[in-house]
Amino acid sequence: MTFVLLALSAAVGLAVGSFLNVVVWRVPRGESVVHPPSACPRCGHRIRPRDNVPVLGWLVLRGRCRDCGEPISPRYPLVELATAVLLVGATAWVLSRDDGLWLLPAVWYLVTIGVALTLIDVDTHRLPDAVVLPSYVVVAVLLAVAAAGTGDWGALLRAALGGAALWVFYFLLALVYPRGMGFGDVKLAGVLGMYLGWVGWGALVVGAFAAFVCGGLYALVLVVLRRARRGSGVPFGPWMLLGCALGLVVGEQMWGAYLDAMLLG
Ligand SMILES: [Zn+2]
Repeated sequence: MTFVLLALSAAVGLAVGSFLNVVVWRVPRGESVVHPPSACPRCGHRIRPRDNVPVLGWLVLRGRCRDCGEPISPRYPLVELATAVLLVGATAWVLSRDDGLWLLPAVWYLVTIGVALTLIDVDTHRLPDAVVLPSYVVVAVLLAVAAAGTGDWGALLRAALGGAALWVFYFLLALVYPRGMGFGDVKLAGVLGMYLGWVGWGALVVGAFAAFVCGGLYALVLVVLRRARRGSGVPFGPWMLLGCALGLVVGEQMWGAYLDAMLLG
């Protein structure tokens, strides 16, 4: 059962990653993600279905368009592989929890928007409303279904409070420090806060904190390597997502260990 589920996660991850390559290219340009079908940007020939198979298609073509030989970026198969790995990891994490498979759809959704938003933010320094705003509804529905399945309505209440708390926290930061924090980050914070709140208050605190630690360290490395001047905006969305992942997976344990240390000290 576990093996079947993990193999299924890998297969779904490859397909989702393939779709995300389209999303990441088209959504920032305001284009439809379903129409027209993918075509070579140089010669305009449609990508044949057999060449569109995730990872394998790129390998068979040796990274070149079948019609004109235009190089195809290795980023495409890498995004497909990364999405598959993340989805397998996410499924393994859900299986390790006692709310069972009820949380799986919500977590798969988080991985999907997480990969899309990371790439779009790195490419364009934006977190598009077209992805973030519908996520409030989708995540609320998926978590409500999970609460109905597990009977853990307290977790759903915590998710609502966590989403509100992280939104307010980022909103205040954006007011105080508008050059460092965009309103796109504020809107994403509400979505991530729902997930963190579902898992627990420790996850929420650690998840919020970890984003600033990881993003801050990265910015420091860039300044030291003279790759960036101070204040030249580093996209923060990917660090919010990484912080959220850390908060979900290790937040409760870290927060518990911290409280123990405080009580003993
Ligand atoms: Zn071509």
